[in-house]
Amino acid sequence: MIIALASGKGGTGKTTVCASLVRIWDKPVQAVDLDVEEPNLALYLKPELSGRLISEMEIPVSDQEKCTACGACSEICQFKAITVLGEYLLTFPEMCHGCGGCLAVCPEGALSLGARELGEVLWGQAGEIDFLMGRLRVGEAMSPPLMRDVKKRLDSSRDVIIDAPPGTSCPAINAVKDADVIVLVTEPTPFGFYDLKLAREAFTPIGKPMGVVMNRTGFGDAGAYDYCRATGLPILLEIPYDRRVAEKYSQGEVIADALPEFRGRFIELAARIRELAAGDLKEVSNG
Ligand code: SF4
Ligand code: SF4
Repeated sequence: MIIALASGKGGTGKTTVCASLVRIWDKPVQAVDLDVEEPNLALYLKPELSGRLISEMEIPVSDQEKCTACGACSEICQFKAITVLGEYLLTFPEMCHGCGGCLAVCPEGALSLGARELGEVLWGQAGEIDFLMGRLRVGEAMSPPLMRDVKKRLDSSRDVIIDAPPGTSCPAINAVKDADVIVLVTEPTPFGFYDLKLAREAFTPIGKPMGVVMNRTGFGDAGAYDYCRATGLPILLEIPYDRRVAEKYSQGEVIADALPEFRGRFIELAARIRELAAGDLKEVSNG
């Protein structure tokens, strides 16, 4: 089973929930940080890393001697990553999406394959937990190809719990699209409600069961609860606002370990996620 923890916006506690869920999971599990622009699951699980590979993307490299400035490459490129200026060919590697179109149409063989470094894939162990993450190179904007390289190392013999990037753009969709269950972490505030709505609308076409973790309950307003009730989104877990959670989080501790009274809540969350995946969800609140 693949479980993706996602959120319509950052700062809802997605990684906090992910770290605790991984820690209480009672089957072999692989924890995967796909929030490659800002991976921080490792700060909590503290894995011992044992492997690393550099993720690269193929880009065109030009040979001015062979180029006749015909412009065919520039015409096919949808990303303005290659253009002809007078008789000079200019390439903009950071804008290239690696589609290979320009190489396919060049009649002179003036383009060859080069590579751009996207970031790194790292893996290791945190006790019994298999750990895997991607980290985007500073200044790199293209995260989906790096995420694909991370996903090549998913372990199908284990349950996989993914810490997905926040938001609803390409990286977030990429992280959740292969999941069996999507868990949306939000909070009962107007921002939380708005971004929960965006996330539900963005992920609904994927057609996977979705549930909600309502974090920092006990303040804010009823908007997110009303939305869950109206759309039939089950609330799988409520985590009350508690200063100790913020303190432990800021000290890099896993809440399920540091605050034993919270451990049972995450065990209940695991049970509900399994029920949701099986289409057999019982006894949930929706506010
Ligand atoms: S590989 Fe694709 S995106 Fe990159 S420069 Fe060539 S046509 Fe443009
Ligand atoms: S298609 Fe080839 S020959 Fe034509 S402008 Fe591009 S690199 Fe030069």
